[in-house]
Amino acid sequence: MIVYLDNNATTPLSDPVKKKINESFELYGNPSSFHSLGVKARNVIEIARGKIAAAIGSDAKEVLFTSCGTESDNIAIQGLLKSTKKKHIVSSKIEHPAVLNVIKYFEASGYDVSWVDVDRYGRVNPEDVAVLIRPDTAIVSIMMANNEIGTIQPIKEITDKVKEVSKDVIIHTDAVQAFGKVKFKVRELGVDMLSISSHKVNGPKGVGALYIRKGLKISPILYGGHHEKGIKPGTENILGIVGFGEAASQAVENIEYKIGKIRELKERLKNGINRSVDNIEINGHPDEVLSNTLNVSFKGIEGESIIMMLDMEGICVATGSACSSGRLEPSHVLMSMGLDPAVAQGSVRFSLGDYNTLEEIDYVVEKLPPIIERLREISPLEIK
Ligand code: PLP
Repeated sequence: MIVYLDNNATTPLSDPVKKKINESFELYGNPSSFHSLGVKARNVIEIARGKIAAAIGSDAKEVLFTSCGTESDNIAIQGLLKSTKKKHIVSSKIEHPAVLNVIKYFEASGYDVSWVDVDRYGRVNPEDVAVLIRPDTAIVSIMMANNEIGTIQPIKEITDKVKEVSKDVIIHTDAVQAFGKVKFKVRELGVDMLSISSHKVNGPKGVGALYIRKGLKISPILYGGHHEKGIKPGTENILGIVGFGEAASQAVENIEYKIGKIRELKERLKNGINRSVDNIEINGHPDEVLSNTLNVSFKGIEGESIIMMLDMEGICVATGSACSSGRLEPSHVLMSMGLDPAVAQGSVRFSLGDYNTLEEIDYVVEKLPPIIERLREISPLEIK
């Protein structure tokens, strides 16, 4: 039995997405070619663009296809900074490396960066962002939902407060984890740019999208042809884009029902762990949190060993961020929330998806307690 609870790392392809990709294998024409095969390929790309736009509430012209969420974040931040003389950036301490490391690069190159603190639940206070805005602030980049703890940020409030201080500041949000798990429309949020990624919503890997508000001009960070308005040059990944379009439509279909269903499973898991394991801490906001994400610190043990033991029972989970597994220092997210490093080391992320069942959750609740007990018996670490 395999119980996959690592959906924040990536998700399996859904059947409709597989079917859509399968139907598209013969679309080998270059979408930039003027002959009929090229036109056919162009048409399916534009249909997919329309689906992404409908899913996020934008105009199709405002959607740019990219190679992944990381590339969307890079194009947004680097592209904007290249297009302006302003050299002040505002971001939070708990961003994904796809944002964090881009901004750190600019910081090392002489840009001034204000890193916003988060509270003990990993939440940013909009007022804390607004007070940092200066005449030379180019961009504010705050993620919509955190990949490790699931905490959801008040993006609309942040946008409103920042725009009250200055209408010129560009606001980007990394919505890679929020898309399909939080109901939103870009216009209501008021952001200027927003990143999403296909493989987090049962679509194929290697394709993402960046929403760029109409009228906002950013510079390319990659030089080449005219594709995607010259901002993301390179012949389009047709199969990926077709799959992403289908996945995006599915991600927002019956979203409230899906959120509720997954939340019920997560609550069952949380209650089961709470009932049978002592000395734990649940990390993240109690209410403003993704319905699929449960981050638990098991005191006195290391998350890595829990993952290995769970894996032997067929249960796939993550510690820290899966994107950076193999790394043993405590998560920057948990540290920014003020967790004791020893407690942060024992954290495990359970991230549920559309295909998890009640039986699977009960299986985890049955297998986990003896694993924790055994690991605590042999652990040299003390429970403080
Ligand atoms: N941003 C967030 C919040 C993520 O969780 C991830 C992936 O884990 C990314 C960006 C990067 O997305 P991709 O894997 O598509 O590059």
